Amino acid sequence: MVVPVQSAGRKRGEWRLVFIILGLVVAVVITTACVGPRLIRGVIQARRDRCAGSLRQLGAALGEYAKAKNHAFPERLADLGGEYVRDPGLFVCPVSGRRYVYVAGLRENDPPHYIIAFDAAGAHGQSGGLNVLHVDGSVKWLDRRQEVRELLERYRAVIAAQGRELKELGEE
Ligand SMILES: [Zn+2]
Repeated sequence: MVVPVQSAGRKRGEWRLVFIILGLVVAVVITTACVGPRLIRGVIQARRDRCAGSLRQLGAALGEYAKAKNHAFPERLADLGGEYVRDPGLFVCPVSGRRYVYVAGLRENDPPHYIIAFDAAGAHGQSGGLNVLHVDGSVKWLDRRQEVRELLERYRAVIAAQGRELKELGEE
């Protein structure tokens, strides 16, 4: 079969275009695969930091409240509203919009590492990780929610031995 010269030239041009497009597609796929996960990690970290910032402000408000109320933290987080927390948005995790769980019954002079507030279940995705606020106002990220459960059980026993009771307030 005789192929006309002009047609063969056009075919070569089309093939070149196909190769260029394929090359671009491969380049985009490789770039996405390399940069994508880092970008996603960055976004996830930024969200955790935002939540930690809210909890830190809440911790500062709790500290002020306790100083004014003979070392006792409030019965409910909402009791901070008005005088100690002007922005009600502080009571919810800025990532999920879900209210923080509050551990009522603690005092300012309880062990500084005791957890006083933490993220509601699933607030930071299904992985189960969460931010926790301690009595001393510091905030920490925990990868396992189960850790909080175990710690709270331990505190509960210690506090009960002192004739007090811990109550978890909020959605679990
Ligand atoms: Zn959160």
